[in-house]
Amino acid sequence: MFPLEEPARPICSAKGCRADARWVLAWNNPKLHTPERRKTWLACDEHRESLGQFLAVRGFLKDTVAFDAWTAARQGSDAPDTSGSGPRSADDAGSTEIATPSGTDQA
Ligand SMILES: [Zn+2]
Repeated sequence: MFPLEEPARPICSAKGCRADARWVLAWNNPKLHTPERRKTWLACDEHRESLGQFLAVRGFLKDTVAFDAWTAARQGSDAPDTSGSGPRSADDAGSTEIATPSGTDQA
């Protein structure tokens, strides 16, 4: 069960924002994920900081990478976010992960 349909075009993960993704925020919630696991949020230029801050204050943020660099680095190896091969791991069950922050500054 996928929480989101794969968008035709990668867009920012900020709520309500439909801007093109320019950045990948790689994060890990140690309560839910093994240390090498990386969850990813996409961010536009405008939301890179607010989304990054949201993760950083919780100590989740591991990396902020330009989207192009991220996809280039991941080419052929690993799609961003969870890829669907293999048994569904326990931490994919349910939606207990932190949600994308509701728009703080959407105007
Ligand atoms: Zn955005």
